[in-house]
Amino acid sequence: MKLIIGLTGGIGSGKSAASRWFENQGIVVVDADIVAREIVDIGQPALVEIAKTFGEDILLNDGALNRKALREIIFQSSDARQQLEAITHPAIRTSIIQQLNAAHSPYVILVSPLLFETNQHELTTRNLLIDASVELQIARATQRDGQNIEQIEKIIAAQMPREQKQQRADDIVLNDGQLAHLYASLRILHEKYLTLAQA
Ligand code: ADP
Repeated sequence: MKLIIGLTGGIGSGKSAASRWFENQGIVVVDADIVAREIVDIGQPALVEIAKTFGEDILLNDGALNRKALREIIFQSSDARQQLEAITHPAIRTSIIQQLNAAHSPYVILVSPLLFETNQHELTTRNLLIDASVELQIARATQRDGQNIEQIEKIIAAQMPREQKQQRADDIVLNDGQLAHLYASLRILHEKYLTLAQA
């Protein structure tokens, strides 16, 4: 059985920094956010389904998805959001499974901001939480994205509370120091995962 590590954390917690570190160790990282974009690329069945459900107006002139228009529709209607998720979630799951299976790596990481919220943790062997205080999340995310505090707070409010993620995670790294400190904690886990992968 392939060892699959779920890697999650709220916005600005340091998921991407952690993912990049694992990639630098030669570990294959499957990114759920990237998969979510890939499955609605031109020519993908999920995009055809979306256009059937929401109308051709949801497409740009070149046939690509008009993300802004779709965001507005689902922002206004929870039914529309459910319809969209009924199309996208199974497609995302199938593609994640294919990519995890295809990975040649001592173990594989599935990084997903909504690992627990979307039940993607069902696909993993164990789960690692990159944890940070809400204050740190806001400080890092506003600096990185140039978004205002209210926008970041909204995103944090829509994600599973930190405490619930702590309860579900098998491993937790508190990312409240320098990046070197984060990497040192990840190094210890990497050794552990390599050992687990050989067991
Ligand atoms: P996420 O992917 O969880 O949203 P990122 O890994 O992109 O978070 O981190 C958010 C921002 O904070 C990035 O600009 C990143 O470089 C920075 N960052 C993350 N961890 C640290 C840290 N320990 N010290 C300083 N900056 C950090």
